[in-house]
Order: sequence, then C-alpha cells, then structure tokens
Amino acid sequence: MMALLPARIREQIFKKTNGRCGYCGDWLPVFDFTIDHMIPKSKLKQLRLTRQGYYNNFMAACFKCNQRKGPTTPEEYRKHLQETTGKDIEFYFESGIPSLAIQDLNDG
Ligand SMILES: [Zn+2]
Repeated sequence: MMALLPARIREQIFKKTNGRCGYCGDWLPVFDFTIDHMIPKSKLKQLRLTRQGYYNNFMAACFKCNQRKGPTTPEEYRKHLQETTGKDIEFYFESGIPSLAIQDLNDG
C-alpha cells in the first residue's frame, strides 16, 4: 500500500487507462481502484526517475491484478494473464513508461 495521492492525481491516473485496469482491461470503479507501480518499486531505485517519471509509472489497476502482479513487469504479468485466463487482452495502454505525461503537477 502507498500513501494517499491527491484526488486530481488519482483522476489523471484513472484517465490514462480510460477507466480500465491497466493489466486485465476490466472496468474500474472510479472511487475504488488501486494504483500500482508499473515498474516495481524494487527496480525503480536503479532508474533514478524524475518526479514526473515517478508519477508516470503509476498504473490504475483492479484489486486482483494489484495483488497478483507482484514484482513482475507489466509485459510479464499480461503474458501470464493471457496464458492463465485465455483472455485476449488488448493492450489498452502502451507498455513500459507511458509517454503520456501527467500534466500540471506543480500548479497548486
Ligand atoms: Zn485487473
């Protein structure tokens, strides 16, 4: 679990995946979704991300995926999901660190 993020940051994270879980694609309840670190915290240290990069690494996720993903990469986890569920998971969201920047983090 992580410290609470401001509502407007949560909203932007939610919008990045159009309200879907960034891994399995399930629709997320707007007031009750979890936020995952796409690149696991354990690997983040080596990357020396900027504050922006750190925020970009957040991914909206359903509770199940957040619990199950663990320290795997998004690609590994999606592959695992596809293999175990047979579900054809669309890549709703580009993998790795998204190019979509979270805007105006510093304006208030
Ligand atoms: Zn999910």
